[in-house]
Amino acid sequence: MHCDQPNDVQKVLDGSIVMPPEGIALSRGPFGLGLITTHAVRAGEAIYRSDWFTVPDTEHSFSVRTPVDGEIETLTITRMHSVKYGDTRTFDIPGCFMNHSCNPTSTSVDLVEEGQGEVTLYDQVALVDLAPGDAVTCDYTLFDWDCDGHQFVCACGSTGCYGRVAGFQGLPSETQDRLRDRIYYESARMSSLLNP
Ligand SMILES: [Zn+2]
Repeated sequence: MHCDQPNDVQKVLDGSIVMPPEGIALSRGPFGLGLITTHAVRAGEAIYRSDWFTVPDTEHSFSVRTPVDGEIETLTITRMHSVKYGDTRTFDIPGCFMNHSCNPTSTSVDLVEEGQGEVTLYDQVALVDLAPGDAVTCDYTLFDWDCDGHQFVCACGSTGCYGRVAGFQGLPSETQDRLRDRIYYESARMSSLLNP
């Protein structure tokens, strides 16, 4: 759904319980809410496919009823859960609750639906073999330019952990150079604006 007004998005969310796409579930773990896979996936395979909402980049939050560990809860989606891109923000449910890892288990691949001229879907693709219950994580710096000021100290514990995560602009320049051909969305847009 593209460039919807926040009130229209909230009306859609009010209309029904939002179920996750096949393949994932929301669960409370050591890092709070996060995504887990519900089936075994091999590296390179899609964990799930989803579309998303695009809303203007304004201070809106959204209320959604969706299952957490199998029980319906009412969750709040704030600006922090959405991804900035230019003067818009995007989010999907429950993808907006995916946790960061500096050595993530997945990455997203945009898809153009047949007959559509623009990207309307994404596949979240496994980077490693996953078993049911394993965490689905992604590297925020690949798409978040500055994390909108929501910087945090990473606890992913992986080798090469960035430490403080402040988007792509917050990474050391040698790390930026290593990742530059993999960045997308706001990280790619801002990077190309600054390095034309
Ligand atoms: Zn980390």
